[in-house]
Amino acid sequence: MRVVIAGGGLVGLSLAGLLRRRGAEPVVLERMEPGEYVRRGFMLGHHSYEALEELGVLAGIRARGRAIAPTPDGSSAAVAVEVGRLLHRLAEGIPVRYRHTVTGLLRDPSGRVTGVIAEGPDGTEELHADLVVACDGMRSRVRGMAGLAAEFMPLAEAKIEWMSPVPTEEVFSMKYLSDGGHIGFFSWPEGSFGWRSMDRCGREAAVAPGIAAFAEAFAALLPESADGVRGLVSTDELHYGEQDLLTCPEWWTPGVALIGDAAHFLGPETGASAGIGIADAHALAQALAMFPADADAACAAYTAWRAPAVRPLEAMDPSRSRLLGAPIPEARPEERWPPPAAGA
Ligand SMILES: Cc1cc2nc3c(=O)[nH]c(=O)nc-3n(C[C@H](O)[C@H](O)[C@H](O)COP(=O)(O)OP(=O)(O)OC[C@H]3O[C@@H](n4cnc5c(N)ncnc54)[C@H](O)[C@@H]3O)c2cc1C
Repeated sequence: MRVVIAGGGLVGLSLAGLLRRRGAEPVVLERMEPGEYVRRGFMLGHHSYEALEELGVLAGIRARGRAIAPTPDGSSAAVAVEVGRLLHRLAEGIPVRYRHTVTGLLRDPSGRVTGVIAEGPDGTEELHADLVVACDGMRSRVRGMAGLAAEFMPLAEAKIEWMSPVPTEEVFSMKYLSDGGHIGFFSWPEGSFGWRSMDRCGREAAVAPGIAAFAEAFAALLPESADGVRGLVSTDELHYGEQDLLTCPEWWTPGVALIGDAAHFLGPETGASAGIGIADAHALAQALAMFPADADAACAAYTAWRAPAVRPLEAMDPSRSRLLGAPIPEARPEERWPPPAAGA
């Protein structure tokens, strides 16, 4: 079966490796340069372990990272690691057509998708495929072109994140705040990364109190993070964001399947989105191996296997519950960021 993978991120690379292990030779199209990525601390969730073990990547990642919530069998709930370690390891041995952007879909007269139009350094080309797999992230262009619906839910709160070059003794800690928000951090051998929910007030107001005030307020709420957060020197190291959750009612249409962030995005405190996406890749690779001449049967099997695993995670996402749940109390003043103005 001819498979085109749109997007060479964590999930597209995992799918390519898993298909190659099953004898297929998918074409991977990635719009970025080889090796280009944003350096950051990463919590690799246990959902990914089976796929990464099969790819021969898990032991190396464990050795370069730190175990979060180790279990007696030598495993752990997650591994804290710099994300580049995982991306580069997954890319090893995978032919990827970098600097190629999927800009259109080919269709037969019945409307079935039969390939992609890609733009690269040498111009525009058409690539025919029995299945195009959208691994092009949350804002997936392929999903939109295929006509698959995406339901975005803006989170009620914003998030502020930091990454410090200073590791901490504790590997991980997270707490809920009185308004249902959350604060947490994790540490890998070369640094630490933290986040907290906060008012949706825009970046300027979020960083206005300055880096020292931010670090002290963060460390007061989460003392285990103190060494890491006090290693910050500038508000340029604070990243403010207003996020959406994403769910897609359908994960495939004839000729196109969605996996990873193109199919679903969970709230930040789950730390599970990538692991679930890598497990999607595992299930789809296996479904394609079982139905090598029938992409639709493979997609139907994929959905039948993955829906019972993924839909409950979407439904139980704590961020979603906050959006749909009971009225949220006001946070205690010492837990608010930015702090309430004096006298307010
Ligand atoms: C700040 C931050 C921190 C996070 N931390 C964690 C964490 O700790 N743990 C966790 O599990 N998850 C985390 N996530 C989520 C995690 O990064 C994603 O779930 C994961 O990267 C999804 O992988 P993906 O391959 O599906 O999508 P992406 O990583 O978005 O990759 C999509 C790829 O497709 C390419 N692409 C896009 N459009 C096209 C096109 N038209 N043609 C060709 N290529 C295209 C992009 O360049 C990109 O390389 C975090 C996300 C963010 C933003």
